[in-house]
Amino acid sequence: MAVELTEVNVSEKSKTTKKAQQEQEAADHEQAEHVAWRSARIVHTCGRCGGTGYFMYSNSGLWRNMQGRIVMHAFTPGVCDACWGSGDADRPWTDLRKLEQEHSEALAAASVEDLARAAGVKYESMRAATTSIADVLEQSMTPEALKAKGRPIGFRELTRHLATVIRNAIAARASE
Ligand SMILES: [Zn+2]
Repeated sequence: MAVELTEVNVSEKSKTTKKAQQEQEAADHEQAEHVAWRSARIVHTCGRCGGTGYFMYSNSGLWRNMQGRIVMHAFTPGVCDACWGSGDADRPWTDLRKLEQEHSEALAAASVEDLARAAGVKYESMRAATTSIADVLEQSMTPEALKAKGRPIGFRELTRHLATVIRNAIAARASE
């Protein structure tokens, strides 16, 4: 009885192993086909990633890892920032850095519009006031002003950030 069970287990195990092996082979095959598909379409191989579409970034030159997180490894794999994943120097895919920049600018422009709407005025008529607010914020960060009593923790950081947000919003709105 014990022998039979063992044999069944061995047989089950070998089935499982075989299945895992087949799945791995299928995955490898799919990967190889994908690489072949890409390679066939690359005319001018990207010099930065050698046509793979991926690049190992050192922390100092990090773009971003695949999950969008910055991790503390010496090298982090990320999408190549020369061809943006296509592997072809002449036919790059979507420039993620540019896309993110455009997204940030659109958000900044929308935020200043929103501020104007909340104040019940048109942005155009509030532009000078917006610039003036950024000036006041920056003036409140002088060494003398920061020494003033009653400044809560985070005042300096938040003030600097707010001034930057407003300046970026004005610049984004102006470039539309
Ligand atoms: Zn590349």
